[in-house]
Amino acid sequence: MRPDHRITAVIIGAGHSGLAMSKRLADGAIDHIVLERDEVASSWLNQRWDSFTLLTPNWQTRLPGCSYEGDEPDGFMTGAEIAAFIQHYADTVRAPVRTGTAVTSVRAADDGYDIVTTEGTWRCRCVALAGGACNVPSIPPFADAVPEAVATVNPLRYRNPGQLPEGGVLVVGAAATGIQLAEEIHSSGRQVYLSVGEHVRMPRTYRGRDIQHWMEAIGRLDDRYDEVEEILKARGVASPQLVGTPERRTLDLNCLTGAGVQLRGRLGAIRDGVALFSGGLRNHCRLADQKLGRLLDEIDEWIGANGLDGEVGPSERPEETQVPSSAPLTLDLTSGEVGSVVWATGFRPDLSWVDLPVFDSSGRLRHDGGVVDAPGVYYLGAPFLRRRRSSFIHGAAADTADLAEHLAAHLAGQV
Ligand SMILES: Cc1cc2nc3c(=O)[nH]c(=O)nc-3n(C[C@H](O)[C@H](O)[C@H](O)COP(=O)(O)OP(=O)(O)OC[C@H]3O[C@@H](n4cnc5c(N)ncnc54)[C@H](O)[C@@H]3O)c2cc1C
Repeated sequence: MRPDHRITAVIIGAGHSGLAMSKRLADGAIDHIVLERDEVASSWLNQRWDSFTLLTPNWQTRLPGCSYEGDEPDGFMTGAEIAAFIQHYADTVRAPVRTGTAVTSVRAADDGYDIVTTEGTWRCRCVALAGGACNVPSIPPFADAVPEAVATVNPLRYRNPGQLPEGGVLVVGAAATGIQLAEEIHSSGRQVYLSVGEHVRMPRTYRGRDIQHWMEAIGRLDDRYDEVEEILKARGVASPQLVGTPERRTLDLNCLTGAGVQLRGRLGAIRDGVALFSGGLRNHCRLADQKLGRLLDEIDEWIGANGLDGEVGPSERPEETQVPSSAPLTLDLTSGEVGSVVWATGFRPDLSWVDLPVFDSSGRLRHDGGVVDAPGVYYLGAPFLRRRRSSFIHGAAADTADLAEHLAAHLAGQV
């Protein structure tokens, strides 16, 4: 195939990850282009619900060479605000973005790769895959067994409770998205059932500071992918139960059950229109409480070791999660009681356009901290890619620094 263009590096995706990589390559004088099928920051504009706010505070919204400069460092941006921040970043770093250009194939070529797009083909020596790790809802295979009369929706398409048909709602999944949607839908006057598996409980503030302040302080977010045990498990950990509101309130299972949301165990199957839940709800809640206790112990120790006990609020422990003594193990989806199911069961990347032998037998991309198992190919923005903070906006700075350095070494024939 004769390419239409030749360039040293192609970055696929103009979200914050791709743009941060563009800044790194520009700093290293590596010519490149950023190909974007839609528009800059499109995931924040098109794949978030109406009331969405970041769960990371404004002071944590930072990219290489650019941080939040507004007068509400402890506030939380809406989807439109973070999209504007990212667009501003693209303008400031003068990222060479081509919007409306969807990559349909990445293939090996004689001296690198051919990037086939809806607007022609680019031949390059290096590729950065920054198409997003959360662009496809991860939904269990038995979702097909939901009765036809019951509507289903995933968080990338959910906008507000008004779009759901009449009736109760089963929200499946109790990570950040699941608990936020359960609360919003319940507040709209519907009965909500929340299916809870393994989850990560977190208070919004602790000892007077945002929990993210302490996560940064104790170094938890800098845990490295090549130092933790069981990195695959760590990469699958659910997002913490947090919401970003002006009053910085905590949203946990106790708040939800106090308001009238009914908890159920992990959804394991749907048979003959009946949702079947595991009996492990109590265990999952105990485990989350224990893990939270260990995190708070670690924060207390850090505060003590740094002589800050007199400067911050007192050490405290949240009430343990209240679990109903016998949560029903079934919910009949054919009874008319439930009108819709919300699959808040996580997300996964869409890499279907990568036509390279870089996937393992489970379909997972083979990479070592973002250095893909094909020379000159890099991956960005995935959970715990190189550090615990990797999938967050504030994770792009360190990851792109490492990966741009590797890319430059590859071009120089040093790796
Ligand atoms: C519900 C939700 C809440 C989140 N909340 C927070 C939060 O509070 N704080 C935080 O720091 N992080 C949060 N994240 C995590 C993370 O910051 C986002 O997932 C972020 O959007 C990832 O940025 P990215 O640049 O890696 O990918 P994306 O923002 O998804 O950007 C990828 C871009 O690539 C484009 N693209 C994809 N495929 C192609 C192709 N084949 N050809 C051309 N272009 C393509 C897409 O159109 C998109 O614009 C959240 C994620 C989700 C899903």
